Amino acid sequence: MRNGVVVVTGGGRGIGAAVCRLAGAAGYDVVVNYAADRAAADGVVAEIEAAGGRAVAVGADVADEAEVDRLFKAADELGVLAGLVNNAGITGNTPGRLDEQDVDVVRRMLDVNVTGVFLCARAAVRRMSIRYGGPGGAIVNVSSAAARLGGPGEWVMYAGSKAAVETMTVGLAKEVGTEGIRVNAVSPGVVETDLHAAAGLPDRPSRLAQLIPMGRPGQPVEIAEGILWLLSPSASYVTGAVLNISGGR
Ligand code: NAP
Repeated sequence: MRNGVVVVTGGGRGIGAAVCRLAGAAGYDVVVNYAADRAAADGVVAEIEAAGGRAVAVGADVADEAEVDRLFKAADELGVLAGLVNNAGITGNTPGRLDEQDVDVVRRMLDVNVTGVFLCARAAVRRMSIRYGGPGGAIVNVSSAAARLGGPGEWVMYAGSKAAVETMTVGLAKEVGTEGIRVNAVSPGVVETDLHAAAGLPDRPSRLAQLIPMGRPGQPVEIAEGILWLLSPSASYVTGAVLNISGGR
């Protein structure tokens, strides 16, 4: 059975790629968004198709209004939008104290992590809300345990961007609660993806394992499972929730 279209931002690698694979297997038609790594996104599409699913790769910077417009028009061509996973996010790749940060790096990070979530959520609400004649749907935003922990010494501003994502989740859930749209967030702890090495901290997941009650970092698919549940009708009475998937941290 087909479940409609789901847009996954940053779907070419890491947590987003795991979401795309599970969504494809669950019968969603998947829009695999990426920023620069077309080959990775094409690889995810090929995996979904090989497993009998439908998917398309679409390059678009989520911080750019015109590109987000193009992303959702590509989704419209695939079918009726049923879900959005706002997964694309960056740290800025300059871990360190707040007083060492460059304003341009911080501005770009906020643009991707906060404005990007706004632009994609707006496009999704305009399609899915019954207020606009849509069929309803679900939005899942990807936050971070950093929103609770604050990211001291590494990325306080990134942590702040994720706190914004969680507040937007709560507010938008209330706004569209009677319009057929559920809005939730997952808050992953440390997950083994390229994000750490990109910030020059390849051993970060293993280094932080001792601080995690379960004694290990998470795998992308363990985050994706929670996201798929929040997207699905099994979570029909869940909205405005932030689900920690963090090994207890
Ligand atoms: P990742 O491995 O670095 O992958 C990031 C993905 O986002 C890539 O597909 C990338 O596209 C895409 N992306 C980056 N900037 C974009 C933009 N402006 N527009 C569209 N796509 C963009 O990251 P990850 O670790 O899977 O993280 C995914 C999400 O989980 C992020 O929101 C992150 O903050 C959050 N998170 C991660 C961890 C962790 O420990 N890994 C923990 C908590 C929360 P390209 O492939 O084209 O570069």
